[in-house]
Amino acid sequence: MRKIISALLFACVLRAERFEAVEPHMGTLVRITIYSKDASPMRAAFDRIAQLDEKLSDYKLDSELNRLCRTANKPVKVSEDFFRVLEASVKLSRLTSGAFDVTVGPVTHLWRLGKTPDAETMARVGWRNLVLDKRHRTAELKLAGMQLDLGAIAKGYAADEALKTLRGLGVSRALVAVSGDIVAGNGPPGARGWRVGLEPAGGEILLRNAAVSTSGDAEQFREIGGIRYSHIIDPKTGLGLTSAIAVTVVARRGLDADPIATAVSVMGELRGRAVFQRRVRKLIVVAPR
Ligand code: ADP
Ligand code: MG
Repeated sequence: MRKIISALLFACVLRAERFEAVEPHMGTLVRITIYSKDASPMRAAFDRIAQLDEKLSDYKLDSELNRLCRTANKPVKVSEDFFRVLEASVKLSRLTSGAFDVTVGPVTHLWRLGKTPDAETMARVGWRNLVLDKRHRTAELKLAGMQLDLGAIAKGYAADEALKTLRGLGVSRALVAVSGDIVAGNGPPGARGWRVGLEPAGGEILLRNAAVSTSGDAEQFREIGGIRYSHIIDPKTGLGLTSAIAVTVVARRGLDADPIATAVSVMGELRGRAVFQRRVRKLIVVAPR
């Protein structure tokens, strides 16, 4: 009997083929790789990411996020996804004394136009003006004209959720990469994990049931008055980072790795390690040139 079972198991493993597909979502490219008997589970995983983009995007006028941003001083019932991401964001704001702050939207929107913020814009920034009520699952913005921007956390969460969708369909050997935010399930057949190359840190890691994110890519910047400002903003000054720091974080979930990589970019290596060294599996900082 045992022999028959192991023969059957072996046949199942053999039948699993490698499938890979790339689709544009969340303003970037999403790559999903799975081992499965057919490619069909990937559809549901991509659809889950598209669904999250509809809720969490600050680019889509009618996203759940932007609908909330058109209200003030009123608790608004929000979806479980939105609440989960907001809750993780506020937790990180507290932990980082505001270095991570998803209310920087008014500043990031100016940054996209190549502008730096004035005092009026800065007055609309501040995570303490985002009030959550877990029991009623509501979010409230305390000031008019606030703008949320989940650009540093939503991709990690979306990768987590895509993997969860695949697992729900019986696919455990999977890798989901939403741009630089990568989440892995079990490794390919016969492998202990997925080999993921690290840029710009160099080398590679073996990722299994974990997430890796890198922040501070030197490509996303605006030149304003001859200075290169990164798309990562220091909420204290309202200015994009000017150092070339790059941070790679390995954590259990994308919901952790993605925002922590951004937070440490803002905090710098010393403060970043002090807060996160023991909260993550790996923290690699490539210091400024
Ligand atoms: P990438 O989008 O390249 O993966 P990040 O995960 O570091 O990079 O996210 C950067 C994005 O996060 C910015 O484009 C902006 O939308 C948002 N953001 C910028 N500064 C902050 C900050 N201090 N806290 C939270 N979000 C931020
Ligand atoms: Mg990030």
